Amino acid sequence: TIGMLALDAKGNMSGACTTSGMAFKLHGRVGDSPIIGAGLYIDNEVGGATSTGVGEEVIRNVGSFLVVELMRQGYTPEAACKAAVQRIINKKPDKVKDLQVGFLALNKKGEYGAYAIQQGFSFAVCTAQKQDLLVQSKSSF
Ligand code: ASP
Repeated sequence: TIGMLALDAKGNMSGACTTSGMAFKLHGRVGDSPIIGAGLYIDNEVGGATSTGVGEEVIRNVGSFLVVELMRQGYTPEAACKAAVQRIINKKPDKVKDLQVGFLALNKKGEYGAYAIQQGFSFAVCTAQKQDLLVQSKSSF
């Protein structure tokens, strides 16, 4: 999945995501990416979030919507992503070793953060000043 979140000079937010889906997926499977609230969610009053990984787990937890709602309650983008990841872990504690889900979030102030179950989820940050910042997200394992 490629997920993108943007904040323009006027303070408006937008986002997009695209995916090839999971490897060896069943014909007709719909992942999280095309489902608003799961793979992507933007609220122009709060911020936006997008996800990658096993879409079924993201859909079950309405993950990107959850991240945005946590930011609405005052969580930083990274803390919101971490709480959403933790919710997924808590529901499947014995399965998380083989599971990857990562969230990326950006709020109206331009603060960003990410968090994933497993290591290896990185994202690029592009601002007017800097275009080549690659950030490794924190992870639970
Ligand atoms: N989230 C995607 C899906 O479940 C897979 C991916 O992240 O590549 O379809």
